[in-house]
Amino acid sequence: MTVQLVGGGWLVAVADGMGGHPGGADASRVALDVIHATLHTQPHPVAELERAVKAANQAVFQGGRKNQRLMGMGTTLTLCQITPGEMLMAHVGDSRAYRFRAGSLERLTHDHSVAAELQEAGQLTLEEAELHPQRHVLTRVVGPSYNVRVDLLGIAWHPADRLLLCTDGLSGLLSDEEVAATLQEHRGQDATDQLVEAALARGGYDNITVVLVEEDEIRHGW
Ligand code: CA
Ligand code: CA
Repeated sequence: MTVQLVGGGWLVAVADGMGGHPGGADASRVALDVIHATLHTQPHPVAELERAVKAANQAVFQGGRKNQRLMGMGTTLTLCQITPGEMLMAHVGDSRAYRFRAGSLERLTHDHSVAAELQEAGQLTLEEAELHPQRHVLTRVVGPSYNVRVDLLGIAWHPADRLLLCTDGLSGLLSDEEVAATLQEHRGQDATDQLVEAALARGGYDNITVVLVEEDEIRHGW
């Protein structure tokens, strides 16, 4: 989802339905619909982004309660708002946001997965975490539970900064170094095409969503 904001800037979001669940696609669609309907085209303070994610959680949760087939459905949700000078983010799950600035890539999100949390606690190395059998098992998701805890971030944003949002269909197959090298060499649609093609060449077993915001332009890949 990408929305151009009144007064300049963008609201962008990715939602990746929980794999292996029949309601995965419904969960991500419902979540993005609620975000769009709640926030419209006005910029908001970060507390409002959090409120919108919690409203999305409620909508997915209630949808799952009404329909046996959809019960327990869930989705990741990473929501970023760029306005002149500032980037605000609300995040749940293992989709990722990165800032690319002056040749270096900085990950702005934590993965809410079993393996990533063990790694952050020092119980697994990065290499062990990448191969861990529970690397795709999420510890925080929008939808399955009545409440959800949301990571929030607010940082300064320069006009030359580039924002990349992606699902684990990309980040699970390409290293941060590979993503950084691609962004260094390519811009715009060319960059998103290169990222998606590289993930597909590795097997592309999962759905891939990529959104790149740079110099007031938005590019998609999937
Ligand atoms: Ca996943
Ligand atoms: Ca996925």
